[in-house]
Amino acid sequence: MKRALVTGGSGGIGAAICRRLAADGCFVYIHANRNLARGQALVDEIRTRGGQAEAIAFDVTDADASRAALEPLVADTPIQVLVNNAGIHDDAVFPGMSAAQWHSVLDVSLTGFFNVTQPLTMPMLRSRWGRIVNITSIAGITGNRGQVNYAAAKGALHAATKSLSLELASRGVTVNAVAPGIIQTDMIDGVFDAKAIEGMVPMKRAGRPQEVADLVGFLASEQASYITGQVISVNGGMI
Ligand code: NDP
Repeated sequence: MKRALVTGGSGGIGAAICRRLAADGCFVYIHANRNLARGQALVDEIRTRGGQAEAIAFDVTDADASRAALEPLVADTPIQVLVNNAGIHDDAVFPGMSAAQWHSVLDVSLTGFFNVTQPLTMPMLRSRWGRIVNITSIAGITGNRGQVNYAAAKGALHAATKSLSLELASRGVTVNAVAPGIIQTDMIDGVFDAKAIEGMVPMKRAGRPQEVADLVGFLASEQASYITGQVISVNGGMI
């Protein structure tokens, strides 16, 4: 049984990814930060359906806490599927953006990617099989007004995805990015109303978390073994 870790598994998209990976037969570490209870509820749901999961919590911006939580998990057996999904946004037009807004958004998405991925890489490499999927955003491809910090973090993750894929390709480890458009979760509540979504999305609706999770599940599978270094969009035709 492959072991998987999904950061931000307590959130909307992360939870759907945990459900999909568990249904595909992975043991899933459901990671949370402040909402461990949500992660635990998802563990219970997955176990009820016959899957295997465990909840863990740490702040991905804290390098020491991340390492302390992860190293014991891979001491004997590697985590072979890693989904870097934890992310936040804190929007402001650039002249009004504070340094705190800049750093907090980059810290979670970009430094969090480093803090979580780095301790898991060597054990994954030694096993000669691995899947790393980074959840980014359409904003990292097109840019977005009011999201200079968020777009910078996600765009940098695209570059990190490509670079890391080159380093790991010969060892059977793939690294890809999934870039969602507008997906119905808490993150977009109050950001876009139905009319705005109709104007922005050719498919005239927000995406469902499961529609992102299904692509992640495929990228994590054996069938996707020759796909690496790619940024794949799930956005209802926005670009
Ligand atoms: P949610 O707000 O529902 O979930 C965010 C998750 O990130 C939560 O599980 C949260 O944990 C975790 N998180 C936040 N800060 C930290 C931290 N410091 N350390 C560890 N974990 C943290 O968001 P979504 O499910 O909508 O988004 C998931 C990913 O998808 C994000 O990377 C987001 O940028 C991306 N995305 C989302 C889109 C959308 O339209 N929804 C569009 C494009 C990309 P907890 O709640 O336990 O604190």
